[in-house]
Amino acid sequence: MKVVVLVGGVGGARFLVGLKALLGSDPGNEVVAVVNTGDDVWMHGLRICPDLDTCMYTLGGGIDPERGWGRLDESWTVKEELAAYGAEPTWFGLGDRDMATHLVRSRMLRAGYPLSAVTEALCARWEPGVTLLPMSDDRVETHVVVEQDGEQKAIHFQEWWVRHRAELPARSFASVGVDQATAGPGVLDAIATADAVLFAPSNPVVSVGTILGVPGVRDALRKTDAGVVGMSPIIGGKPLRGMADACLTAIGVETSAEAVGRHYGSRKCSDDGVLDGWLVHSDDRADVEGVAVLPVPLLMTDVDATAEMARAALDLAGVDVG
Ligand code: GDP
Ligand code: CA
Repeated sequence: MKVVVLVGGVGGARFLVGLKALLGSDPGNEVVAVVNTGDDVWMHGLRICPDLDTCMYTLGGGIDPERGWGRLDESWTVKEELAAYGAEPTWFGLGDRDMATHLVRSRMLRAGYPLSAVTEALCARWEPGVTLLPMSDDRVETHVVVEQDGEQKAIHFQEWWVRHRAELPARSFASVGVDQATAGPGVLDAIATADAVLFAPSNPVVSVGTILGVPGVRDALRKTDAGVVGMSPIIGGKPLRGMADACLTAIGVETSAEAVGRHYGSRKCSDDGVLDGWLVHSDDRADVEGVAVLPVPLLMTDVDATAEMARAALDLAGVDVG
């Protein structure tokens, strides 16, 4: 069985761990993750891919689980030395161990390898057990139009998220470069040939939403024979971690499981909808026309709970895991 999952960083990576645990023992099972690269950015001459790395480190056992990003047993000598030079940006955390990943990636990119090939090379070390496909090999970067001191300006998503902790009011998002981008190698084909397509409970705007913006992806989702099922990152009207509410507010979507389900929309009943099924947390309710909504526990407290969530999603997608 082939399961394709659209993922961002922390929420996506945790879900993949549970899905892998559920499907892992059967060699006939394949998990392909289409990973958001809209958070990617050049800093200090290094290409940083936050969501790809969070997935790779989490699945490969190298993540710092407390922080949810970067490496375990990390040290920060290079960051301190850069700050001593006043080398901006000083607000972005780049650990020493993590830096090696960025050095390898940046060197390969400069040598002409596409991001998908670089990701494959990095994964040869980490053996994530899941195929990680960048949503695109092209440079697509999420920018945020913010209001500061009475003026509107666009800043990179990382600056808004990490430096300003999403506290500057966002007016809109722009996916810079997306119009000229093509989906990464294997992305559209994986969706077309999948037995089930899942949306991890990732940020609906700047993770899943960014992937949906890549030309061809929405169309592939609407055409695939596989069932398409999403999981809500919003529980009881709040995101579980992070600031997804600030993103939803900026695009005019209420922070509720129902509103996010409606935002994704039905494949059957709307012109651009992408869902057949929508999982909401046990106590939540949602009415989404043309979409089968099921309340189940959606707290990824441990691997077993997450695996059960994956089982419910696959079940709703019409796939029996046994
Ligand atoms: P990011 O790129 O690191 O921000 O990560 P993602 O976009 O993959 O995921 C962020 C989203 O995951 C947030 O909006 C959270 O609400 C959601 N999330 C985190 N943990 C859980 C969980 O245990 N259950 C559910 N349903 N959502 C979660
Ligand atoms: Ca992210």
